[in-house]
Order: sequence, then C-alpha cells, then structure tokens
Amino acid sequence: MSTVSFIADTKEDAAFRLEVRNWLEENLPLELKGWSTRPPPEMIRPWQRKLYERGWIAPSWPKQYGGMEATVNQQLILQEEFGRAEAPVLSRQAVGHIGPILIRHGTEEQKAEHLPKMLSGEVLWAQGYSEPGSGSDLASLRTRGEIDGDHLVINGHKIWTTGGHYADWMYALIRTDPDAPRKQLGISMVLIDLRTPGITIRPIKTLADDEEFAEEFFDNVRVPLANVVGKLNDGWRVAKALLDGERLGNANPQLALDMLERVRKVARATGAFDDPVFQDRLTQAELDVLAQSAVFAHAVQIARAGREIGADSSFIKIVSTDIVQRIADLLLDAAGEHAADAGPLDTPEGPVDVSVLWREVRRMSIYAGTSEIQRNVTAKRVLGLP
Ligand SMILES: Cc1cc2nc3c(=O)[nH]c(=O)nc-3n(C[C@H](O)[C@H](O)[C@H](O)COP(=O)(O)OP(=O)(O)OC[C@H]3O[C@@H](n4cnc5c(N)ncnc54)[C@H](O)[C@@H]3O)c2cc1C
Repeated sequence: MSTVSFIADTKEDAAFRLEVRNWLEENLPLELKGWSTRPPPEMIRPWQRKLYERGWIAPSWPKQYGGMEATVNQQLILQEEFGRAEAPVLSRQAVGHIGPILIRHGTEEQKAEHLPKMLSGEVLWAQGYSEPGSGSDLASLRTRGEIDGDHLVINGHKIWTTGGHYADWMYALIRTDPDAPRKQLGISMVLIDLRTPGITIRPIKTLADDEEFAEEFFDNVRVPLANVVGKLNDGWRVAKALLDGERLGNANPQLALDMLERVRKVARATGAFDDPVFQDRLTQAELDVLAQSAVFAHAVQIARAGREIGADSSFIKIVSTDIVQRIADLLLDAAGEHAADAGPLDTPEGPVDVSVLWREVRRMSIYAGTSEIQRNVTAKRVLGLP
C-alpha cells in the first residue's frame, strides 16, 4: 500500500498501518464513530486518554516532551486510518496549538507544568484571541493587562471561544502596552487559569442550538507575569506562529477522507453512484484530497526540519477549506431528495448525517481567520502585492 500522497509504505510502515488499523477496530467505541459535530468532552476524554496511553496523541511532538516524533509517512498513515475508521477529530487547542508553541517559546517551568497534562487530556485548553470588534482585525484587541508587581491585572472581554466553558486554561492575547508605536507591538501571549477569581464565563448558544462557544469577562484578574509566553509585548509574533500552525491543521486530510467515505456510502444507498457525472465529480474530489495530503506531508516535513511555514499556511487553509466544502456539496448531491432531512440518512452501511455535516464545515472559512483575510495575507506576504 501507499499513503494518499503516493509515498509507498516501507515494510515498517505497512506493519505500522496494520497495527493502527487493528487497534482502531478493537478500541474505537462505536458511539464515537461518524460524528458530524464535536462529541461532548465527557465522551471524548476517555478516548483521548486511550490514545495517550497508546502513545499516539501527539505524533509530531519530540519524544523528549512525550510525543511520538513520528515520521512524515507515519503521520499520514495515522490520519488516513483515523479518517477511514471515522474516528472523531479531536480538539487541537492543546496538543495542536499551544503545546508546540510552548515547546518552542515556553520557559522550562511552563513546559514542565503544562505539557504532560495536555497529552493526558487532564487539562483542557481554549483560545482567547477574538473580542467583540476584534476578529479579522485581531491586533486591535483591547483586553488590557497592567503590570502590578510580579502580576498582570487583566480587564476585558473575549468571545467566540470554542469550548471556553469546558476549558481549564486559556492562552490569550492581552494588550500590555497601549502606547506601543504599532498596535501589534503592545500585545503579550498569556496563559490564564480560568478558575482565577474575577473571571465570568458564559456559554453562547449557536443557531444549531448547541453551546459550542463561550465568552469570558475579566474583572481585575491577577495572573503571574511568569505566565507570559515569550517576551512581554512580543505576543504578536508568538500568536502568528500559532495561527500559522492552526491554519495548517486544516490541511490534515483526516476529515476529508472521512467525508469521502460518507459520500460513497450515501451514493451507494441512493444510486447516485450509477450516474457518470457524479462519478466524475467524486474522482475529482478524490484527486483533490490527494493534493491536500501532499500539501500536508510537505508541511509536516517543514515542521520536522524545525522551520516555520509562515504565510504559506494562509494559502493552504484556503485550498483545504475549499476542498472539504466541495466534498460536503457532493454529499448533498449524493443524498438527493434526502439532502435537507433534519436527521441522519439510513444507509445499509449505517446512518450518515448529511445536512449537519454540510453546515458544520461552513465554519472552516471563518475560524483561524476568514478566507477573505487569508486571501489578503497571501496577496501581501506571499505575492508582495500592495
Ligand atoms: C467555529 C468557530 C470557532 C471559533 N473559535 C474561536 C476560538 O476558539 N477562539 C477565538 O479567539 N476565536 C474563535 N473564533 C472566532 C474567529 O476567529 C472570528 O470569527 C474570525 O476571525 C472573524 O472575526 P469576526 O467574527 O469578528 O468577523 P469580522 O472580522 O467582523 O468579519 C466579518 C466579515 O467581514 C470580512 N472582512 C473583515 N475585514 C476584512 C478585510 N480587511 N478584507 C476583506 N474582508 C474582510 C470577513 O471576512 C467576514 O466575512 C471562532 C469562529 C468560528 C466560526
């Protein structure tokens, strides 16, 4: 076999693939398969724990910090097998986003305190970037941190925090120098224990009637200066590195592969497979996912070499988002008259949520910076346009 990027499995890779496939068959609980939305934390925690105990929770992390230090091929194999098994996509806030940043920019104390609990899933993290009025123009954020002795005193308001009401800790962007010559220069990245007095957290109900987001109000919240990541007032650089990594996460082919499986299931059930035009579109989608996987492999290689991906992550996010959203369109077409059904479509191979999944992937063009903003970044930082 070979990975979706045509990298042929070596003998060791083939053995690893078989091991992952067999392990998933034995260990992935049936009730966690095929979720279109995020499973609730109480369901996900035991699964994360299992992956942690198996040593597969952080494929790209160095072994020194409890990661797997997996090869590019092994990382692809893991994503492919997890996608094919319809395993849930885990929250990436800890292991995917702030963890690698702490490994790179954190103090030894910060690493020792936080990294082990991220891996075990004992502590859940949230991202405190957006504020009312500061989403796309993130550098305009106003949540303020004033130095008082060896503490920051934080006042302000964060919003659209995914899982903020489940999280134990938040990594947040805080304005620590309002007089800096450029707004980007007065921001720090701060780790905040969400149980600190003065923090009020309110869940936000979405159109889908779930409480996926929260907003947080900070009223004279005292946070040790030791919780600043990197240098004080140098948070924008750290935040950008984190966002580049977050955008790359969209290139992870696990979701796209999982969705292709669902398209095939639905198309077999409704007869859409017999239509040559549909087959043509499905083949195109499969080719797109190959391209996406190749990009992911390239990104993994860059990360393994210790280099930063930089502004290319914007282009990768746009393309990956587009591919996944087009597969979701294909899913609707495969479902035909059942596309708008509120509940899942029953197929001989199991139920498939069609409209829920279609709605879920709309979000990809908004979070971690909208597609419009990614186009602006690509125009400026990659193409050098004015
Ligand atoms: C599913 C989901 C999860 C999220 N999770 C988090 C989280 O965990 N933590 C967090 O901090 N935030 C989170 N967010 C918030 C997200 O980062 C913001 O919604 C996003 O950056 C856009 O900001 P905004 O909502 O304020 O929209 P605005 O910035 O008000 O933008 C509104 C519209 O105007 C467009 N626009 C704005 N400026 C320009 C421009 N200069 N050129 C062209 N078009 C422009 C935008 O593309 C968008 O279409 C999440 C959002 C979603 C949807």
